[in-house]
Order: sequence, then structure tokens, then C-alpha cells
Amino acid sequence: MNFEFEEEHRILRDSVREFAEKEIMPYGKEYDEKGEYPWEIFRKAAKLGYVAADIPEKYGGAGLDYLGCAIIAEEFTRADSSIGSAVLTASLGCPMVKYFGTEEQKERYLPKVVKGETPSAIAITEPDAGSDVQAIKTKAERVDGGWKLNGTKTFITNGSVSEWVVILAKTQPDAGYRGISAFLVETGWDGYEARRIKKMGLNCHDTAEIYLKDVFVPETHIIGQENFGFYQLMRFFNESRVFVGAVQLGMAVGAYERALEYAKQRKAFGKPLIEHQAIQFKLADMWKDIEAAKLLIYKAAWLIDRGKANPALSSAAKLFASETAIKATYEALQIFGGYGYSKEYDIERYYRDARVGTIYEGTSEIQKLIIARAIAGKLRL
Ligand SMILES: Cc1cc2nc3c(=O)[nH]c(=O)nc-3n(C[C@H](O)[C@H](O)[C@H](O)COP(=O)(O)OP(=O)(O)OC[C@H]3O[C@@H](n4cnc5c(N)ncnc54)[C@H](O)[C@@H]3O)c2cc1C
Repeated sequence: MNFEFEEEHRILRDSVREFAEKEIMPYGKEYDEKGEYPWEIFRKAAKLGYVAADIPEKYGGAGLDYLGCAIIAEEFTRADSSIGSAVLTASLGCPMVKYFGTEEQKERYLPKVVKGETPSAIAITEPDAGSDVQAIKTKAERVDGGWKLNGTKTFITNGSVSEWVVILAKTQPDAGYRGISAFLVETGWDGYEARRIKKMGLNCHDTAEIYLKDVFVPETHIIGQENFGFYQLMRFFNESRVFVGAVQLGMAVGAYERALEYAKQRKAFGKPLIEHQAIQFKLADMWKDIEAAKLLIYKAAWLIDRGKANPALSSAAKLFASETAIKATYEALQIFGGYGYSKEYDIERYYRDARVGTIYEGTSEIQKLIIARAIAGKLRL
């Protein structure tokens, strides 16, 4: 057992950190206030191979392993919770294409994301179906030469800035989860419309409601096998949850480091905050949870890299890291006192941005259901 990064991962972490501190960290406040998608930073990150870094070199990607992707995620949101996560989630639509797409789909759509031409998206959630994926109502009906899609998707990251979106729809409406298929849809096609949603945080993210009205999807654009979309999605979540866990971990680290620095400088009752035991305990708890989250995430990523993805461990990593981020940003804001609540410092943004971590990519309750099924022997471990 080895708890140290290999040299390639150490070098990667150092170079990503250098990039993130220079190109991401200084702009967090500005983009949060403007509420604009950080196009320029996305393109710079893509140029260095940091966007969808797991995509094979054959399609223009860096071909990194999953641990490498987790390292990039952690460093990006350590630098800034909003921009970091906006750039990282540009890859959201890619895994379904990478694993289940045709060669033609991979060659045509993956390079656009890794080169920084467009972010990608995956649209599962609907106004009446979030956690319960099998309850989606978006329909794909067979027509001459392909399918016709109708329905509404909501809370879709990059739904109005992406050139293409993976859409989950019912191909057999009465078959529950056995009747779902995945489609690759270009957002410029007739009948696709998206409207941005206002949120509590992640203000520079594009989060959209999508309206699909008789969108024609050619035969060539189904992803994988018809009616196998749900199974494909479960494979997607095994990996994406570790990635999102790393995104949330970076937020916890960013908040902790800022609070530690502040506690060393700010004085109360004649001594630095860090010399007050109540503040020391907060920082000690943050450090302890961050270390535990790292172990879960790195192990889950390590297993994925060995072809042994463990759904329960992926869920545990996402669950623990996202709850750690909420606790860490809450306590960091407390350590900053009134300044933490002001827009002068980054902490209020970290606090708002971290909050969604226990909701998206499967809520904490859903992660616990998966873990519980696994330990009850009802899910492969
Ligand atoms: C900023 C943001 C970005 C997002 N990006 C995307 C995206 O890119 N693509 C996408 O498809 N979706 C996206 N989502 C949607 C997100 O994945 C869903 O919000 C999430 O899955 C929860 O679904 P819901 O909101 O419908 O809540 P519901 O499913 O209605 O759940 C409401 C509450 O009930 C709990 N609950 C539900 N079922 C159970 C149960 N069986 N047992 C116990 N508790 C339960 C939930 O945990 C939650 O606390 C995003 C959401 C946000 C806020």
C-alpha cells in the first residue's frame, strides 16, 4: 500500500496548481458578480489538456487516468469554487460518448470539448423527476430515419452554452428504467430551446431549463444500445460522482486554507485567532475531514483506474466530500466573522457554491441508499 502520489501525479498537481493560482484564483469575484460563463479561462484550461482530461489522445484529449482528473478538479476549485467548477463541468457530456458512443460520434464531438470550442452537457433531470430517474417523461418516438424528442429538462449544467447535449429519454415509456435511451443532440437543431436559471451560487455556471419540441434526432445519434440508457448512466455515475467529490473537496480545501491564513493574522483579545482553542478545534476538524475525503476520493479513483469501480465507494466519496465542503465553508465563514459575510472576501462565495454539492449528481440521501443496498448485498460491491 502506498499513500503517496507517483511522480507523474505530483508533477501534474504542481503544474495545475500554478495554472489555477494564476488564471483562475484572481477572477472568482469578478465572474461571480458578472454571472457570465468563463469562456476565456475554459479555453486556456483546455489548451493545457485540463478539460475532460481522461479523453484519449486519439480524440485530442490528454488521456489521463481518473486519479489525474481528480487532482485537476481539486486544484481548480481550491483556486476558485465558481470558475473552477464551471470549467471542470464542461466535460459532463463526454463520458457517455467515450464509453458508449460510435467511433463517428467520438471523432466528431469529443475533440470540440477538449480543444475548448464548446462545453458539453448531460440532461437527465426533469421538473417532475430528479432522484427517481426512471420517472422521466421526455419521450423519443421512432420516426423515419431516427427519433423525435419531446419533453422538458431542468437544472442542466451548460444547457444553454453547449453545442451538444446528451439527453436521456424514454424509448419504451411503460418499461420503467428498462425503457430509457441516451441521445446526442446538437443544441442548434430545430425544436431545442434553453433558458438560464438563477441560483443561490455557482453564478458563472450556465444552469438551464431545456425545452424539446419535436427535435429530430437521426438514427446515427443514439448513444449505445436502445433501452440501455439507465445502465449506461449507472456506469457514468460511478465515475462522475468521484469527479464531483473531488470538485467539492477542492472547495473544502480552498475554504480551509483561507480560514487558516486569516486565523493567523486576525487578532482578538490580544492574540491571533488561531491561539484561541475554539478556533483551533474548528480548523482541526476541517483538516481531519479533508484528509478523510481525500482518502475516499483517491481510493475510488484508483479503483476506477484499475477497472474495479466500486459504486458504493464512489457514492461514499461524493457524499463525504460534499458534506465536508459544506461544513468547512460554514466554519471558515464563522472564523472570518463579519468579514466572512461581506463580499470583500472569497468565503461567502465558497459557502454559497459548496451548498449544492449534496444535491447534484445524486443527493446525499440517494448516495446513502446506494451504500445501504451495497452493504445489504443487493448491489455489486
Ligand atoms: C446547480 C445544479 C446543477 C445541476 N446539473 C444537472 C445536470 O447537469 N444534469 C442533470 O440531469 N441534472 C442536474 N441537476 C439536477 C440534480 O441532479 C437534481 O436536482 C438532483 O438529482 C435531485 O433531484 P430533485 O431536485 O428533483 O429532487 P427530488 O428528487 O425531488 O428530491 C427532493 C428531496 O427528497 C429526497 N429524496 C428523494 N427520493 C428519496 C428517497 N427514495 N429516499 C430518501 N430521500 C429521497 C432527496 O434526497 C431530496 O432531499 C443540477 C442541479 C443543480 C441545483
